[in-house]
Amino acid sequence: MSKNLSPIVDPLLIWFDNNKRELPWRQDKEPYHVWISEIMLQQTRIEAVMGYYARFLDALPDVEHLSRVDDDALMKLWEGLGYYSRARNLKKAAVVIMEEYGGTFPQTYDELVKLPGIGEYTAGAIASICFDEKVPAVDGNVLRVIARVQGSKENVLLPQTKKSVTEQLKKIMPRTAGAFNEGLMELGELICLPNGAPLCDSCPLKEHCTAYKKGLTEQLPVRVKKMKRRRADKTVCYLTAADGKIAIEKRPDTGLLSGMYQLPNIEGFHTEEALRTTLREWGLDPTDITFTKEAKHVFTHIDWYMKAYHINVKEQNDRFIWVTEDELKSSYPLPTAFQKLL
Ligand code: SF4
Repeated sequence: MSKNLSPIVDPLLIWFDNNKRELPWRQDKEPYHVWISEIMLQQTRIEAVMGYYARFLDALPDVEHLSRVDDDALMKLWEGLGYYSRARNLKKAAVVIMEEYGGTFPQTYDELVKLPGIGEYTAGAIASICFDEKVPAVDGNVLRVIARVQGSKENVLLPQTKKSVTEQLKKIMPRTAGAFNEGLMELGELICLPNGAPLCDSCPLKEHCTAYKKGLTEQLPVRVKKMKRRRADKTVCYLTAADGKIAIEKRPDTGLLSGMYQLPNIEGFHTEEALRTTLREWGLDPTDITFTKEAKHVFTHIDWYMKAYHINVKEQNDRFIWVTEDELKSSYPLPTAFQKLL
């Protein structure tokens, strides 16, 4: 059960009222200004955005100018900010606002989120800041603050965590929704700093903050990046000697399946001919080689695709440990990946 967030509303609003920075786009609640600043802030720090923002508004003071701007001129205004598709989307959205809304900025979250380049966060920010619609605007700052207040160990990089936080915030949005959202973002930027360095002594939420009370500010929020899965192909040898004993070997002491035993195997899929060469390099003399089966085994970050061969060899050698089937079952831990091939 997540901790109820209602108690943070009033202290946050009071704090924001007394501590908010005077920023150019906060001088009015003009949606065009909030929109441009929010898109610029997605990729750049506030101090760096100031100059860009001023130049942009000088050249393109409203939606109409933006909708008509020459593409090269737009890119020039954006030059150095990077993510040029964001600038192109600004113009696309401006054209939609001119053509479909007669130049009047859409006023609801549902309409805003349909515009090119405007995602849930930006739609929430504009709708709440400019029109006080009771919708959250959840970015990394907000996720960090809420994770710490709730002492939540949920991974904030997962979409479901963001969804859950959004739902919880929706339930407690005050009438002054814009100030509440901006307050959370501002707190994240000025006080509840990332990398385990929040300024809790100055925080208006410390009475309600689980991370502060339990000393968990360094551990939270949890951010676990999804690792890219790797694929590994393997040719696995089920080697049996004339007396029926099977060849196994010990895996390295570190890494995946460390310290367990395995059937001898080679990276990649190999032809029978290539396999014979490898076996000879191992000091073995194969009599016959039969393909037996293939299998896949899924580890946390890697998938093994295995093709197994049953290979009879004339004699055992010292390279491997030769064991009976019973010994293998009773005394040598063989990972499931290999058991699938027996
Ligand atoms: S008390 Fe500390 S950890 Fe908790 S919200 Fe405030 S700054 Fe963040």
